[in-house]
Amino acid sequence: MKYDYHCHSTISDGSLTPDQLISRAHTFGVRQISLTDHDDFSGLKLARETAESCGINLINGVEISTTWYKKTIHILGYGFNCEDKTFYKNLEIMRNTRIERAVRIEAELTKLGFPNTLIGAQKIAGRDFPISRTHFARYLIKQGYCKNFPESMNKYLSDDAPAGVPHQWIDIPNAIEWIHNAGGVAFIAHPLRYKFPEGLDLIDLVKDFVSAGGDGLEVVYANHSPRQIEHLTEIAFKYNLGASGGSDFHSNDTSMGGVELGHIGQLPAKLIPLTRLIEKVK
Ligand code: AMP
Ligand code: MN
Ligand code: MN
Ligand code: MN
Repeated sequence: MKYDYHCHSTISDGSLTPDQLISRAHTFGVRQISLTDHDDFSGLKLARETAESCGINLINGVEISTTWYKKTIHILGYGFNCEDKTFYKNLEIMRNTRIERAVRIEAELTKLGFPNTLIGAQKIAGRDFPISRTHFARYLIKQGYCKNFPESMNKYLSDDAPAGVPHQWIDIPNAIEWIHNAGGVAFIAHPLRYKFPEGLDLIDLVKDFVSAGGDGLEVVYANHSPRQIEHLTEIAFKYNLGASGGSDFHSNDTSMGGVELGHIGQLPAKLIPLTRLIEKVK
């Protein structure tokens, strides 16, 4: 069955509105989907209306930015109650910290010789806030300062680049608690995408995540190789974690790179799939 438990809409840094995203997934034969916007689940209502009209099964989702030893780690929340006011409010407070962060990113980009990037990013996003690094990257490309998305990230905006300003998100136990309190389950997103701090590695992250009550790993991700999936499967199995998988689709614009909705392999049979974990908590 074609599924996709990780994708983004215009609610965060994606290019398609939640309804366009679900329709596209339907066109590509996806039967089960989770919309996982960064730090925001307000797209789920519209996504659900569209999912119901085209017969796709929608799982409530969100991708929360957290900080672990000064590094940003993304935690996926699934199957929570999207009417939960406390969860919504907590995410809203955290989203608001993107305002001053965007101002700091703009200041760094100005120093690098790229003026007026905040207003440019805001135009791309179609709103004043919240703004993501993706919007800045798209603006740099539009202005011809960078050739493509990887270049804009690697050269200017990623965590180790000059305009990848440090930012304090919430910590992992907090994110897990918010998700659990709203009736959901917590997964580590794209575990192989992180650059770990000196002396720490993925196993340290997994151990901390498990001690904080975390539930699963995103073992299938975008263009992971079978070997990478196997590696993550072994870790998930050892630590008794469930399995999720997603494309992390952001845009239908192929120049942005990325994987198409649902264009991922099946979850490993050896692991408990996300859908079974969600049944358990309900
Ligand atoms: P933000 O949430 O504002 O920190 O923006 C981070 C987003 O930028 C991620 O969710 C990805 O969509 C995108 N991105 C792509 N490549 C990178 C990278 N190398 N480092 C950080 N973010 C990246
Ligand atoms: Mn993103
Ligand atoms: Mn992510
Ligand atoms: Mn994502």
